[in-house]
Amino acid sequence: MIKVEHLSKNFGNLVVLKNVNFEISEGEVISIIGPSGTGKSTLLRCINLLERPSAGSISIDGVDILDSRTDVPKIRQKMNMVFQSFNLFTHLSVIENLTIAPIKLLGKSKKDAEHKALNILAMVGLAEKAYNYPDELSGGQKQRVAIARCLAMDPEIILFDEPTSSLDPTMVSEVLSVIRRLAKEGMTMVIVTHEMDFARDVSNRVMYMDEGVIYEEGSPEQIFENPKKEKTRSFINRIR
Ligand code: ATP
Ligand code: MG
Repeated sequence: MIKVEHLSKNFGNLVVLKNVNFEISEGEVISIIGPSGTGKSTLLRCINLLERPSAGSISIDGVDILDSRTDVPKIRQKMNMVFQSFNLFTHLSVIENLTIAPIKLLGKSKKDAEHKALNILAMVGLAEKAYNYPDELSGGQKQRVAIARCLAMDPEIILFDEPTSSLDPTMVSEVLSVIRRLAKEGMTMVIVTHEMDFARDVSNRVMYMDEGVIYEEGSPEQIFENPKKEKTRSFINRIR
């Protein structure tokens, strides 16, 4: 479904991604873990076309998305992203946050978009907040709205960049349980996270990134219980 080959990214002289290669199949849930500053966000941002890679290729269902003829909004509809800092439209109500893109980009009627938005809000446990504004919500609620906004576009893949790291510990579980539910439903997801217990039980595969490379990857059991490489082992031990 997603194929990344020889992906590199520099910011000036700073080499952030070095020859990254991987493939993700439909229905897989991949967690990306690793120390700060090792290029995890940059990797997701390249996949979502928020950064231009310096070299390499990214394809989705066989289509090269770095081609200049790529329909970028279409790619972002297929592959939507949830950020650490929510990035909600603060001047719009919750339901408007969910309907604006389906109406403007997918050409849906307001009625259909609202109907669907209300169903999704019920799914994430926020039906009663549809007409509130983001400022009136807790962090966990805002992040669930951000996930709901993503789902309103019917994505095939969701990329999460540390979806819980700006939340109070009390709000982390409400967001993780929404992501767990999506995993059960078969959504393809790539999740950058520092929540090791969550990564271990939600993902099919874990990638450990270090200094711009995928240093080790494997099943959650392998990476967390029996990492092959010393650096992976010391990261896992440190973060526990
Ligand atoms: P964290 O776990 O702290 O979120 P990360 O693994 O997501 O870290 P990135 O945000 O991808 O790391 O950053 C990797 C490196 O690239 C860092 O050294 C960062 O300072 C640098 N970097 C990221 N974005 C830019 C940018 N737009 N311009 C210059 N340097 C950047
Ligand atoms: Mg990051």
